[in-house]
Amino acid sequence: MRRKRILITSVLAALVGVAVPLAVAYQLSLARAVQGEEARLRVLANYSLERAQRTLDSAGAALRRFEPLAVTPCSAAHIEALRQTTITTRSVDDIGYVEQGMLKCSASGMQATPVKITPADFVLDNGIGVDFDLRPAVSGGERMVGLALGRHKALVAPVRFADVIVERNVQMAVALAHGGVLGVLHQPDMAVVATLLAGSQARDGNLHAVVARGGLIAVMTAPRSTLEARLSSELAVLLPVGLLMAAFIVGLVAWLSRRRLSLLGELTIALERREFFVHYQPIIALDTGVCVGAEALIRWQRPDGSMIRPDLFIPVAEESGLILPITDEVIACVIADLRDALVADRALHVAINLCASDIETGRVLDVLERALAGTGIEAQQIWLEATERGFINANAARATLEKARARGHAVAIDDFGTGYSSLASLQSLPLDALKIDKAFVDTIATDAATSSVTPHIIAMARGLKLLIVAEGIETQEQADYLAARQVEFGQGWLYARALPAPDFLAFYKARRPRQLP
Ligand code: C2E
Ligand code: MG
Ligand code: MG
Repeated sequence: MRRKRILITSVLAALVGVAVPLAVAYQLSLARAVQGEEARLRVLANYSLERAQRTLDSAGAALRRFEPLAVTPCSAAHIEALRQTTITTRSVDDIGYVEQGMLKCSASGMQATPVKITPADFVLDNGIGVDFDLRPAVSGGERMVGLALGRHKALVAPVRFADVIVERNVQMAVALAHGGVLGVLHQPDMAVVATLLAGSQARDGNLHAVVARGGLIAVMTAPRSTLEARLSSELAVLLPVGLLMAAFIVGLVAWLSRRRLSLLGELTIALERREFFVHYQPIIALDTGVCVGAEALIRWQRPDGSMIRPDLFIPVAEESGLILPITDEVIACVIADLRDALVADRALHVAINLCASDIETGRVLDVLERALAGTGIEAQQIWLEATERGFINANAARATLEKARARGHAVAIDDFGTGYSSLASLQSLPLDALKIDKAFVDTIATDAATSSVTPHIIAMARGLKLLIVAEGIETQEQADYLAARQVEFGQGWLYARALPAPDFLAFYKARRPRQLP
């Protein structure tokens, strides 16, 4: 069951470890492909704008040649000049002369049938009027763009404004900045073109580029299928990186789970072989410097002499449930190691760390009761330390803590401030003491951002009438700071590391109150 849980967690972690890098590689490749393709469309749009501008300029220059008119209107010389200009100006298909709103003559000669000429749809800054949709007889009813200056009007085929070579699936429209479309290529969806010209996003699933320059706007669209080639070349680069990452994560997960499995196996054997023992870190009354107790900290030494740190094996033990016999072992060690000292000095206490399931089930209290029976040690001499992880099931935790206090044990919240517990949950739990985590003690007398939190934790504990134990005191400055704020107890390397039982007893004797034997 324990092995199964570790295996399931590992398989899930490995699946996530494969999926995430591959998904990231794909998304990055896609984003790069879209970027690349849109950049290409912008280059094309720029190029088409250049061509459209050239068309406008050359048609404008052709018209200006007749303003003012140096010859008699519609004379042979005028008509010849119109014909010559039409032939030599690539962008202009015909030029007509307009008088009193009627076409009088054009490059093809005198006008036989009357044609009414309406005012231009729009006038450019340079005075040239623009008609977007003329359908003159001369073009066989095909749409033409009209450009008018003075009494002359030139006809320009719309294709001259969208005169670039692009693939069939790339569509384009060139318009005036105010929105009138001059020319299109490959029949774009005009609703999409209108949306893009209005400066909005078109959500038709295609790729777009909009470029504005010199009073003209070019709009390009291309289907997403044009991404395929780019996407595969991007994937060719990024997918191997994603695969490498995935392989690394799977390897790491496999290594970690093997380690956890073997650690679990070793833990089971270690319990049978009784490879655990307890070290004691003195707890000092900060005002007098007297040693008032100790925290029992488990140690595991393997037969080869190597030590394994509790923060490595406690989580595996908690996850697998092996922590329960480990707690029992700690209780047995504490009684064996410190019984005489505890019986001789009722002011001495030992703090035992409980795991989350100890707090949730309350099982440890009965173990303690049985273990203490007949030893002469009083329940009030055994403090219990609970971390916030034990408070997830608040009702169960409250029941255990109340029971513990009813039996005489003092209960402390350990590593306070590193978890998620709120002030409200702290208020509702029956506690006697609060241990300020080393992380906060470390910030004392530094300008780290958390240093301002320490006084608040102290004030809060005071408000809740809790005793305070500061953990991890390493400097005299920290000790002075805490003592000045009436923090009752402290432990840390400034006083002593966690010591084997005989060393702790020696330390305690040197630091106990004078009046004791
Ligand atoms: P903890 O309960 O917060 O214990 C304090 C840890 O801080 C201990 O590490 C102690 O050796 C270390 N420490 C104390 N003073 C200083 C200092 O001045 N500087 C530095 N750098 N460290 C200091 P340890 O013994 O490695 O224990 C680590 C954690 O393992 C404990 O944190 C506790 O959560 C857990 N643990 C230890 N023994 C037991 C046990 O018997 N049962 C359970 N359930 N957990 C235990
Ligand atoms: Mg502790
Ligand atoms: Mg702690």
